[in-house]
Amino acid sequence: MRTPGEELAHLESESLRRSLRRIESPQGPHVLLSGREVLNFSSNDYLGLADSPDLVGAFQENLSRYGVGSGASRLVCGSLAPHVELEQKLADVKKTEAALTFSSGFATATGAIPAICQKDDVIILDKLSHASLIDGSRLSGATIRVFPHNDLDKLRKHLNWAKENVGSNGRILVITESVFSMDGDLAPLSEICDLKDEFGALLLVDEAHAFGIIGPQGRGLAAELGLETRIDFHMGTFSKALGLSGGYLCSSKEWIDLWTNRARSFIYSTAPSPALAATIADALELITREEGEALRTKLWENIHHFSAEATSAIIPLILGENDKALQVSQDLQERGFLVPAIRFPTVPRGTARLRVTISAAHSSEEIDSLKSALAEFISTS
Ligand SMILES: *Cc1c(COP(=O)(O)O)cnc(C)c1O
Repeated sequence: MRTPGEELAHLESESLRRSLRRIESPQGPHVLLSGREVLNFSSNDYLGLADSPDLVGAFQENLSRYGVGSGASRLVCGSLAPHVELEQKLADVKKTEAALTFSSGFATATGAIPAICQKDDVIILDKLSHASLIDGSRLSGATIRVFPHNDLDKLRKHLNWAKENVGSNGRILVITESVFSMDGDLAPLSEICDLKDEFGALLLVDEAHAFGIIGPQGRGLAAELGLETRIDFHMGTFSKALGLSGGYLCSSKEWIDLWTNRARSFIYSTAPSPALAATIADALELITREEGEALRTKLWENIHHFSAEATSAIIPLILGENDKALQVSQDLQERGFLVPAIRFPTVPRGTARLRVTISAAHSSEEIDSLKSALAEFISTS
C-alpha cells in the first residue's frame, strides 16, 4: 500500500507540493507574513472589504443581535430572519424571482448542479471552469462534455450532439464563468445566450469574480451586457468582492424551491451563522450604493494602472514551468510582495503562473513598485 509520504515526495519532485502560510494580520493590501509586512497582490478581496471598519462594526452589531450560531440546517430550525432577508435582498439586487444562499461557493455548485441534472441529462462546460463546477457536474451523474476555453464552435457541436442524444424529458445545461478565476478573461456571454436559446438548453453562469466589480451596482457581467433575464442560473460568492464568505444562486421561484428540496449541500449542512448572513446583507447594501460605486471606480483605476488591457482584477503572468513560477514568487516575497505561484491542477500543466490580483485598497505607488519588481524578476529569471 502506498504511503502518504510517497505521494508527498512525488508532489515535491514535480514542484507541485503546497503548504499553508500563516498570516498574522487581518486580510488586506498589507499583511503580516513571517514577522514581516508584505504587500498582498493575491487576495480576492477586490474592494478591500474583508477588514473594512464599516463591515467589522456591522458584524459586531449583528453578533449581538442574532448570536453566533444558527443551530441546525436551514430546513430544520436554522433558517433565521437574516438568512431569509439576505435572500430577498439578493433576489432584488439580481432582479430574479428568488435566491438561495449556501455556506460557500463550492457548496453551491456541488449542491445545485446535481439537483439540476442527473443521469439522463447532458452538462456542457468550459474547459477552464472552476473545480466546484466540475465536481458538481461529476456528482450529478450526467454525461459531461467539455469545450475548449471560450470556443463557441465547439460549444455548438456539443449542443448539437446533446440535442440528438438527450431524451424529450432530458435537460441540457451549459456552464461557464463570466470572469475566469485564473485567467481573468471574460466569457462571450451574449453568444453563449444565443446558442443556449437556439438549442433550448439551460445556462448557469458563475459570476464569482465579477459580482461586486462589474456592471451597474456591481451586479455582474450579465447585468453589464443586459443579459440578466436570459440566464437561467446566476451563481456567485460573497467570498470575493464582498469580503465575507458564502455562495448563492439566483433564479426562478420554482428552481429555488427545487434546490431547497434537492441540493444536498444545502439540506445536510448547518446554516451559516445568522450574524454572517446579516453582515452579507449589509455588504450587499454597501456595494450597491455610492460607496460601492466609489470603490469600483478606484478598483478600475488601479487595474488599468497595472495593465491598460486588463478586463478584470485578475492578471495572470504565465511562466510555464512550476519551478520557475515558484522561484519568481519566492524572489517577490523576499522583496516584500505576496504573489503565490498557481500550479496544476488549479491551472493546466505547463501554464504555471503568478496570478496578480488588484484591489481598490492598493495605492498607485504600491502598484508601481510591484510592476518594477516584476519587470526585474521576470526578465532575468
Ligand atoms: C472562489 C470560487 C468559487 C468557490 O467559492 P467559495 O465561496 O470560495 O467556496 C466558485 N467558483 C469560482 C469561479 C470561484 O472563483
